[in-house]
Amino acid sequence: MEKIKRIDDITLIPEMIGEAGIENEVTISPEAMTGIFKDMDVTVSKPFDVHYVVEREKDSDTICATVDVRGEIEASCSRCLEPIRHTVDLHLKTAYLPALPDMSGDLEAERSSSETGYYRNIIRLGDYIVSELGLSLPLRFICSEDCKGLCPGCGANLNREECRCETAPKDPRMKKLMDLKDKLRRK
Ligand SMILES: [Zn+2]
Ligand SMILES: [Zn+2]
Repeated sequence: MEKIKRIDDITLIPEMIGEAGIENEVTISPEAMTGIFKDMDVTVSKPFDVHYVVEREKDSDTICATVDVRGEIEASCSRCLEPIRHTVDLHLKTAYLPALPDMSGDLEAERSSSETGYYRNIIRLGDYIVSELGLSLPLRFICSEDCKGLCPGCGANLNREECRCETAPKDPRMKKLMDLKDKLRRK
């Protein structure tokens, strides 16, 4: 069995793939996964599982891959900042066609869609999985659709506590305004 430490390491040699196909299941350590999400404010504490099946279409140069990716990411809710767990359960399916002569060396960039990619002497399945994984994540994590977030005035987590702005205004300008209001009311 080949040693796969990172998702990017998943590559295949087209000549080695017959109609019977290749099936493999690899476990990627949390450390290696964290590298993939380095630009995001997330952590990974459990290993990811990647299962893939790669087959050649009958009498054809077309190679088909199906991939399942399972794991968990820890992030913070962008509204209330509470820690949340985001489950990754990705099912990918892509075909690989022989590259055209005028295509660049970076065949992952030459993809016509997430379902159609190209190969020369190697199939970089791992690079495809990494980019699809990135695309599958939300731009902002939220703990729930109706998360009320933090009060911008007092910082109270409005999901579980009352806003304290009314009783103890933090902003001195607000306090003056309230005093003035009181005075006017008393007149
Ligand atoms: Zn939240
Ligand atoms: Zn408040």
